Amino acid sequence: MHDIVFRNALVFDGTGSTPAVKDVAVQGGRLGAMGRSLGEAARQVVNADGLALMPGIIDSHTHFDAQITWDPYVRPSPALGVTTAVIGNCGFTIAPCKPADRDITMRNLTHVEGMSLEVLREGIEWGFETFPEYMAQLRRRGSVINIAAYIGHSSVRTYVMGKDASTRAASNDEIARMQQIVRDAMRSGAVGFASSTSPAHNGDAGLPMPSRLAEDREMAALVNAMGEAGRGVTMLTKGGHTSVTFLESLAASSGRPVMIAALLHNGTNPRAVFDDLDAIAQANMRGHRLIGQVSCCPLSMDFTLESPYPMEGLQGWKPALGLEGVALRAVLEDTTFRDALRAELASRASFRLFNGEWHKVRVVEVARPEHAAYEQKSVADIAEDEARDPLDVMLDLAIGEELKTVFTAELLNTDEDAVGRMLNHPHSIVSLSDAGAHLTFFNDAGFGLHLLGHWARDTGAMAMSEAVRRLTAHPAAVFGIKERGLIREGFAADLLLFDPSTVGRGPKRRVFDLPGGAPRLTTDAVGIHGVWVNGAQVADSRGLLHEAPLSGQLLTDFAG
Ligand SMILES: [Zn+2]
Repeated sequence: MHDIVFRNALVFDGTGSTPAVKDVAVQGGRLGAMGRSLGEAARQVVNADGLALMPGIIDSHTHFDAQITWDPYVRPSPALGVTTAVIGNCGFTIAPCKPADRDITMRNLTHVEGMSLEVLREGIEWGFETFPEYMAQLRRRGSVINIAAYIGHSSVRTYVMGKDASTRAASNDEIARMQQIVRDAMRSGAVGFASSTSPAHNGDAGLPMPSRLAEDREMAALVNAMGEAGRGVTMLTKGGHTSVTFLESLAASSGRPVMIAALLHNGTNPRAVFDDLDAIAQANMRGHRLIGQVSCCPLSMDFTLESPYPMEGLQGWKPALGLEGVALRAVLEDTTFRDALRAELASRASFRLFNGEWHKVRVVEVARPEHAAYEQKSVADIAEDEARDPLDVMLDLAIGEELKTVFTAELLNTDEDAVGRMLNHPHSIVSLSDAGAHLTFFNDAGFGLHLLGHWARDTGAMAMSEAVRRLTAHPAAVFGIKERGLIREGFAADLLLFDPSTVGRGPKRRVFDLPGGAPRLTTDAVGIHGVWVNGAQVADSRGLLHEAPLSGQLLTDFAG
């Protein structure tokens, strides 16, 4: 007797091969027989006529580390077809963490990942100090989807160096202690080691996130400590000063793959990302595994000048970092500050969120009624109408409204032809949802549905079977996730049932369901009929099931 039989499903099995109509049986959380007419001997028959069945989506770039301690449903990802999430990206984790460092850890997350401090203070359950204890808490509490966790560089650094972690290089002794933490984490089932050298990653009071203070020798020592396990991957969000050559040397010395984020297309320097992908391809020809994390979503962010994430990676923004209120407004008024920013924006850069494309920055919401005419206008248009400089327009408008004006900026990844080529690159991985972070800025947790609907069905940039492979078997292979990512007998029954003619992600909308009633952006699935994790249904066409079972597993056993 089978537990479930999906009858007459168009099966995309994850290998990228042509789909076929068949019945698929599920037994004890695993996939069973496949073929015709299996429905007679089943407790539940799901009539899949006209629908497609694929392995559940693996989201390799999420930041659910904090949220999962109060929300084992890791909303909104399960309803968007995600059945496995990798947490701890960029090295911004909450373990290990000494009780004395909890406050700075939460303040850093507030700044770098746009998580509300109130939400973190009210939400995080601190039932751990070390990384293995954090893993034990995850296992004990359970989760609706499968979870794989990185050991995060910034947390490791703070654990060993305290508040010095954001201000100085590490000593030999400190590096040795960090290595030991990484080894212990790998032993307890970490999927790898995550870090960041990106200047966009700033923590509390505008100080760089701790990993940005690491010298190359510290980075190499920690990556190599991970590699001693003979498994695991390194992920690193790269600043412009970190060369692909250095990252190749890490792959070579550790013998493990290095995943490079965030490869986003920049319209003002359109070759840069392809130069990096070419360098990644050449490293692979030399036998060193480098993989570029690319995104299938245009990156746009909502922001105010109180917390202008898109601007904070600019060198010229430094005088304003960490300031608020009157002090911040005084810097924003300063002509020298503005002139330095203008000069910087006029120069080319490869990794920069905002590149002075003022026609892509719009006023969303003004605070004073007399400014209402600005709403929905681009800063470039206002500047032209009023014969003023666009930076002055944005800053003066915000200053006149106590910095409450809401802007939105289309930052990167808007050139569809270029993004299509990045998505199809042999050494890229489709990723970068950032689910769980930047909750008020943007929400790309539905990236997988966007790949299926927009890129495969609507633009034809890739076949639907290839889009499925890119979301399932491909990430499973890169991370060494065993017996998932394919519809194959004996594999875990992580499944997504969808309508290929309508699948996609709905518009973003604001909800107020975080601890303390804080807002976040969310997005609904379109064309999803059901999501199963280890054989248990967790979502249907209306979204996450009420009282969905916590059927996910903590993944700790990865292939080498
Ligand atoms: Zn990230």
